Amino acid sequence: MEFYNNQEVWFVTGAQLLYGGDAVITVNAHSEEIVKQLNQAGTLPVKVVYKGTANSSPEVEKIFKEANSDSRCIGIITWMHTFSPAKMWIKGLQNYHKPLLHLHTQFNKEIPWGEIDMDFMNLNQSAHGDREFGHMVTRMRKNRKVVVGHWSERNVQERIAVWMRVAAAWADAQDMVIVRFGDNMNNVAVTDGDRLEAELRLGYHVDYYAIGDLVAYQDRVTEEEVDELVAEFEQRYTFADNCKKGAKDHGQVREAARIEIALRRFLKDKNAKAFTTNFDALHGLNQLPGLASQRLMAEGYGFGAEGDWKTAALLRTIWVMSKGLEGGCSFLEDYTYHFKGEKSAILQSHMLEVSPLITSQKPRLEVHPLGIGGKADPARLVFTADPGSGIASTIIDMGNRFRMVVNNVEVLKPEAALPKLPVASALWIPQPSLEIGAAAWIYAGGTHHSAFSYALTNEYFEDYAEIAGIELMTIDKDTSINNFKFELKVNEIYYLLNKSLQ
Ligand code: MN
Repeated sequence: MEFYNNQEVWFVTGAQLLYGGDAVITVNAHSEEIVKQLNQAGTLPVKVVYKGTANSSPEVEKIFKEANSDSRCIGIITWMHTFSPAKMWIKGLQNYHKPLLHLHTQFNKEIPWGEIDMDFMNLNQSAHGDREFGHMVTRMRKNRKVVVGHWSERNVQERIAVWMRVAAAWADAQDMVIVRFGDNMNNVAVTDGDRLEAELRLGYHVDYYAIGDLVAYQDRVTEEEVDELVAEFEQRYTFADNCKKGAKDHGQVREAARIEIALRRFLKDKNAKAFTTNFDALHGLNQLPGLASQRLMAEGYGFGAEGDWKTAALLRTIWVMSKGLEGGCSFLEDYTYHFKGEKSAILQSHMLEVSPLITSQKPRLEVHPLGIGGKADPARLVFTADPGSGIASTIIDMGNRFRMVVNNVEVLKPEAALPKLPVASALWIPQPSLEIGAAAWIYAGGTHHSAFSYALTNEYFEDYAEIAGIELMTIDKDTSINNFKFELKVNEIYYLLNKSLQ
């Protein structure tokens, strides 16, 4: 789970020898200055490493090939300080398979009206050179992010920072193992999909295990290990009376701890970053691993219920992107509507599996019966998600492509307590309204599961979809059903034709 600190983004400056060696020396010095200041600004989560000027096709190709094979490098930033004839970028771009950001900036900030001459123009002509480069990237249908503005400005650096976080999550996904206990829940469509295509396109590697493989781990957990973890629970959570030591359901808390220890150990041994469970396949476990799923999500493991490996993987990706930012993330599920005019909302929950990263409350640890799965009463953390803006996201398989659907939502403070619903929950209004938001989500074919985040903005999902080369349907305050349906229809044609363009 090494990211950000040990990773690098390479900075490559395009130039040529037309203006003479002195010009290239100046270009090089300017580039060094930009990279130095970008690293010192404190805005970027990943170190920028300057790789020098590229003045010819072989030089470009060499750098891009090295970037592919260097595991620290998660992406390249290009900038054409001067004019850099773009045919020299063809071989490099053909050989490059990591995220690309085109920084359309200029070393000098404002025009020095009284001083400007042709020498100055030759050395500050990225308005000219970056268009030449941009043409080639577009001509080759290469996905990238274009960021425009002076490199010293905070908003420019913040847009680079977003892309870096997405690139880090993309790198993380390229060797992502998702452990799937049991299969997809029988007959459920939206959580299923083409795992082979997902590995080709998104990096996800899904491995099946029987629940008995976990049970074998569970049976090796010692009572001392359980004691230790239950002591941690006592520190971190408020125990319901029936869960306390000596009370009726304390044994269920201990069983939940035992399952958690086994599950964490299993995931470590398999080098997994995400997992799924299925409440239909729990043979040999005392209870649904609800508490374990909640706590492992809080540690950064992706989770999807009922075999939902796509949401499990996406949640892990979102967790990596938002590491160190304010606002948590969780697996959530659309449950119950609250129809109340403009305040119409959806109650989000799951049977048990909601991450405590989305609350500032101290969770209550409770044990109650669960009317599904036919197992003993499971332990769970009970809390309410914090009010605020967030984004729900999902990836579905459309048969010929993956579609990401995102919806901006407003999480509300519930009108009243839910004393008879002892599970973690969030109440939200999808933008622009429940009526339009939910309709658009359904037209897009979105899941009843989502990976939810408070920290991320739409730009993260745009960058992710661009890097992955998958479809993105965004539902936000500007969405109208007519336009949304039109976009869906246009995309059908685009993705049919897209294959023949690649
Ligand atoms: Mn579900």
